[in-house]
Order: sequence, then C-alpha cells, then structure tokens
Amino acid sequence: MKQKINFSGRAIKYTEDEIATVVEAMRTAEPLTQGRYMAEFERKFSQYQNVEEGSCFAVMNGCAALELAAQLCDFKPGDEIIIPSHTFTASAYPFIKHGATPVWADIDPLTRVVTAETIEKVITPRTRAVVPVHLYGYVADMPEIMELCAKNRLICIEDAAQAIGADINGKKAGSFGDMAIFSFHSHKNLTTLGEGGMLYVAEPETRKLVPMLRHNGHCPYGDDRPNYWTPAMGNVDLPMLNGRPLMPSNYSIGEVECALGAKMLDRIDEINAQKRGRAIRLIDALADFPELEFHRVPDSRHNYHLLAARMKGGQKLRDRFMARMHDEKGIKCVVQYLPLNRYDFYRKLGYGKADCPQADAFFDTMVSFPFQHWLGDDEFEYLIASIRQTLEELRQA
Ligand SMILES: *Cc1c(COP(=O)(O)O)cnc(C)c1O
Repeated sequence: MKQKINFSGRAIKYTEDEIATVVEAMRTAEPLTQGRYMAEFERKFSQYQNVEEGSCFAVMNGCAALELAAQLCDFKPGDEIIIPSHTFTASAYPFIKHGATPVWADIDPLTRVVTAETIEKVITPRTRAVVPVHLYGYVADMPEIMELCAKNRLICIEDAAQAIGADINGKKAGSFGDMAIFSFHSHKNLTTLGEGGMLYVAEPETRKLVPMLRHNGHCPYGDDRPNYWTPAMGNVDLPMLNGRPLMPSNYSIGEVECALGAKMLDRIDEINAQKRGRAIRLIDALADFPELEFHRVPDSRHNYHLLAARMKGGQKLRDRFMARMHDEKGIKCVVQYLPLNRYDFYRKLGYGKADCPQADAFFDTMVSFPFQHWLGDDEFEYLIASIRQTLEELRQA
C-alpha cells in the first residue's frame, strides 16, 4: 500500500513569521556567523531556561555541545562515565573520544530513562561523571540524581537534546546539572533549519573556556595595542583546564540559524503543549488496548518529542503489528535506540558488555509512532483509528 504517514525526519512547519525572520537575517546579518543573532539566541535561551546569562553557548549541533562538555570534564586515564545504554549514540561516543570509559546504566521500565537507583548500581571508585538522558522528552529524576552526584562528587552532564521545555515543578530540563546539551536537529521540537545545538555550563570559571574552544582558540587581544591591525586581527591562545591544554575546533553555528532559534523560543511552549495534548489523546483513545503500554504524563515533565510504547505481547506481536501498520495502513512506525552496547561500534571498542535487562527488554518490544508536529489532524486521527483496527485484527488472527 502507498505510504500515508511517514516517520518524518522533519518535525515542524515554520510559520510565515519564522520564515520572515530567516529572510531578514539573510539580508542583514553582518557577519553571517558569531554576531548579534548568536548573542540574542544565547541570551533568550538562558532566560527561557532561567539560568545565568552567559552560561549558554550556541553551537552547530548537539554532538558539538557534547564534544565540548566532554573536553570540559578533563578526564584522566581510567575515568568512568555512566551513560544509559538506551539512548542515541551521540550521548556516549564524544566522552569516549575525550578519554572516558563508558559504563552502561539501565532504565526504568515505565519511564524509559535512568534513575538515581540504576545509576548508583554501576558507580565504582573510578566513576567521574554521569550523563542522564531525558529520552523521548521526559525529564529523568534530576533532584535525586543530583543528590547522588553530590554525594559521590560526580560531574553531571544532562543530555536534554530531546527535552527542551520539559520541566520538574517549573525547573527546566538542562538546568539541573553541571553542564547540559540541547539539539536543534531537524527531528527535534525546536529546529534551526536542520542543525543546531546549545551547551549550558553552570560553573563560571569553566564557562570562560567555551568561546575559544568553540572557535579555533580565537580570543581578543587586550586593549593596549599600538594599532588595531597589529600584530594581527585577533589573538589565538591555548585554552587551559587544570593546567592541561585543550584543543579547540570550530563548532560555530551561523547567524541565520541563531535568528530562527531565538524566534522559535516564542513558540516552543505551544509546540510542546500541542504535542503533549495529542500524545494524551492518542494514549487515552487506546486505553482499551492493554497490548500497548504507553508512558502517560499529562503535565510539562514530558514534551513528547517522541511517542513510544511497549508491545506487551512480545517481539513477535510487535513485528506483526509494525508490518501490518506499514503494509495495510501505509503508516511507518520505527524501532529506536538499540542499546549502545549492542552496536558494532561499541563492541569493537570493547564496550559491548552491559547489565541492562530493562533497556534490552524495552528495546526488543518497543514501537515508536510517527509523531512529527506537522502531522495534519486528519492524519493524526487516521493514525489512532489504524492502531485500533490493527490491534483488533491481531486479536482475531
Ligand atoms: C539528537 C540527539 C543528540 C545529538 O544531537 P545532534 O544535534 O543531532 O548532534 C544527542 N543526544 C540525543 C539523545 C539526541 O536525541
């Protein structure tokens, strides 16, 4: 059957206002990178997050933010970092690249994110840091996790790539940890034309290193120069952390993307509320089908970036469901987040072992529904009706 609903790689449709903002930035930005739009995006973002001004840094994507966070951890050989096995690969490999050994933590079977308990289980004397990932858009138990980190002197880096705008009692995802990262990738609830990211650094001294690390080690000269052109336009210096040099890169994001990001912050709460409203509507419409177990969170702790469910009948039923949805209804569901220890990449690096039975069990029976914000109302109702019909047919079969 012809495809009716794709699992789209694009999340949202831009408004005419947002398009006009992009065009305006195209016409007027000078320069086209590292200018006033970036400053504005960072300022508005820190306000939105209710964190100190100057603590948020726009970068080209979430992965670049993770690379920077990893560098700022200053790992020594043998240092371990606790990461959920059930997450996107970029939550993990930047830390390996910068010297840490990953140790996989399990998830809670209902919330599908790590908890203080699953983290505590894998703490060793070598543990230096923890990466709670607010997967699917649900904020992990950050107060408890921060308490555990304080007790064990661990650095906490929140991966809030999927969780912009979600909060716990008004405190935003990505404002609890020592550092946090956000993604504005094409698929995320807020996207800056396909790529974009943000790094949050709580500690003021550490924060000072970010502009240089982000931009080739560039930094201004002091003011006491004989001429503005000598010895050169700007200085290049070596960023030092705890007496050790850090290598910079260029992780900059363009001005047009920043202009759009700042503009979209005006609409992100509305987008999240609409997604959450739809998620609850779909979950409640399927309440008489216990075959599918959803995570129902009617408040702002979940932004429903993604809508995932566990097929309680097991993997065979899951696979028959996916096939029927695809072949008979033209709806593409997907299976996501293969536990990282099961990927060739991590196995070949020697990180193929994990004791994460809940992550494995969830992954092996999960379904992720197409849930892009720009689904039409008709498509959304067709999705609900198709899930109901398919589950009914599978009961008969
Ligand atoms: C999207 C995502 C990232 C990476 O973000 P990019 O902007 O694509 O580099 C990291 N972690 C998680 C959990 C993500 O979903």
